[in-house]
Amino acid sequence: MVRTEGQLGGAGSGLSATMRGLMQTSFRDLTCGDARPEHAGRDLSLAGWVHRRRDLGQLIFLDLRDRYGITQVVIDAAESPQAHGIASTVRSEFTIRVSGSLALRLAGTENPKLATGQVELRAREVAILSPARTTPFPINEPDADIDEAVRLKYRYLDLRREALQGRILTRGRLVQAIREAHHEADFVEIETPLLIKSTPEGARDFIVPSRMQPGSVYALPQSPQQMKQLLMVSGFDRYFQIARCMRDEDLRGDRQPEFTQLDLEMSFVSEADVMAWVERMVIDVSSAVVPDRPLQRDPFFPVLTYRQAIDRFGTDKPDLRYGLELHDLAEAAKGAGFAVFDEVLAAGGRIFGFAAPGMAGATRRELDELTEFAKRFGARGLVWLGIDEAGAVRSPIAKFLAEGRTEELAAAAGAERGDLVLIVAGEDIHAQEILGRLRVEIAARLSLADPAVLAYVWVHQFPMYGWDEERGRWDATHNPFSGVMPEDEELLVTVSGDPFRPSREDPAGRARALQYDLALNGWELGGGSVRIHRRELLSRSFALMGHSDAAQSEKFGGILEAFEYGAPPHGGIALGIDRWAALLTDQTNIREVMAFPKTASGSDLMLDAPSPVDSAQLEELGLMLKPPTVADVAGPRRADQAGS
Ligand code: ASP
Repeated sequence: MVRTEGQLGGAGSGLSATMRGLMQTSFRDLTCGDARPEHAGRDLSLAGWVHRRRDLGQLIFLDLRDRYGITQVVIDAAESPQAHGIASTVRSEFTIRVSGSLALRLAGTENPKLATGQVELRAREVAILSPARTTPFPINEPDADIDEAVRLKYRYLDLRREALQGRILTRGRLVQAIREAHHEADFVEIETPLLIKSTPEGARDFIVPSRMQPGSVYALPQSPQQMKQLLMVSGFDRYFQIARCMRDEDLRGDRQPEFTQLDLEMSFVSEADVMAWVERMVIDVSSAVVPDRPLQRDPFFPVLTYRQAIDRFGTDKPDLRYGLELHDLAEAAKGAGFAVFDEVLAAGGRIFGFAAPGMAGATRRELDELTEFAKRFGARGLVWLGIDEAGAVRSPIAKFLAEGRTEELAAAAGAERGDLVLIVAGEDIHAQEILGRLRVEIAARLSLADPAVLAYVWVHQFPMYGWDEERGRWDATHNPFSGVMPEDEELLVTVSGDPFRPSREDPAGRARALQYDLALNGWELGGGSVRIHRRELLSRSFALMGHSDAAQSEKFGGILEAFEYGAPPHGGIALGIDRWAALLTDQTNIREVMAFPKTASGSDLMLDAPSPVDSAQLEELGLMLKPPTVADVAGPRRADQAGS
């Protein structure tokens, strides 16, 4: 689906004649992807890797490969005995240079799968530039099933393979398109330092001990958040950066300790302004990188509030390539006769459900599986109603329900004949989230999502804070610098009256942030906010998050002071480039779009990092390391074996 330039059978380098000239080096006249019938009769040299070798005795055929494609080389013992002698010693993955004359292939022997398939290079000279050992896995078998640990150890060889090389090239084009779009719109690309003071983004910092100031450390940035805001105070107006971010988290799923963000910030903007820019940029970038993938329209870039997203899709990153919307069934369920429903409603809980089209005939086993699935995410149970083609309803709770109430529930869930209604009753948000998981599961079972379509969706108006039970304070749900919706500003107060004594009952719990997230096909692509640029309001918000005056100056003194010197209203966003590249190339794991990713336990298997440090280096830094415990050593290994 994705055009992968460099794909071996592909379109060649796709370069203009002038550009092709630029590819000429002392070793080659053309790349392995460029030879065409128009070059027939020319004497030329090619250089590359031996992709495949077929030895037919007098004739040896070599497929010569580089990033741009493959060209067939023929060495005929009768024409060039010396070249034939050398060619008979070359093996897969040798790098060689071949000189000879480019010829049209004999009629009937053309290879329509190769861009160079109408021609071949008839060799006069073959030179081995570098021999190759037998590689630990085949480079020329795209479907070979190779253990990921081996792929990571020999990443430089894995990167030679067609699929991964194609994805890394696509990622390169993604970054290029992002840069072009931003430069065109007068954003300034500014690098921010990697050795900084901790920016609290909710994760653990990686720290770097200072040699010159023993006892002190730098933190590696979890994001350039404060720096980009300070650049707005400096008057740069529009900043962007392809920024590396580092977070020392347990690597659940496909998280990586370091990842790349498109980080941007704009001055004198509202939420709508930032969203408008991001939409335009995302459209330009998507169509430049994957022109054959349609963007979902009707609506185009829908905007949902967090509440709508939860109540309609059970998640704040809905996949909108399909419907399966949730419905609030409280009305239809109330007093219908099923006691659990009434108990849940009386306790302030919610009842939601959705209709799975055509699944009325689901087997006992399928229904048990779906129930188990819901329980895994914390459901007490899963209620289902199957409506057959005659309109009759089958359900384990039918016997409890009053006349007509089953039909009422089915109708409220938007079900038609032949559908299966799935219902979860439970705490607000939790009930919807369980259904959100089921919705994704059902869509997968019914193949409802068009894999080609890109469905971007905004979610905004998130709650500003969540209550942190352990620390007895509010915590920013997203970013401690996010602004508050103007109509909710008055909620940033405590019931105690003391701004430094927050409690669970504070109105602050109802405040909504000027925070917006962008999701793509069910994954969070990124998020941002319009920031608090007024010093006094930022202090008030920090106090709710448990920071005393002294702690505020210690942790955020720089930015708080900067806001005393004329700060423009500003806002921005960060989009995950790894995730974006993965989604554009149909991958579920970001390791598949990173040149040199780490394992689940944070190891680089190729460089063998992290590795023990020698005592002289520690001495210089004034550090002493505790020896690892048995658990320390066992833990990471187990995680790697899990292979996630
Ligand atoms: N700094 C935030 C993050 O890394 C993004 C932003 O609000 O601009 O998620």
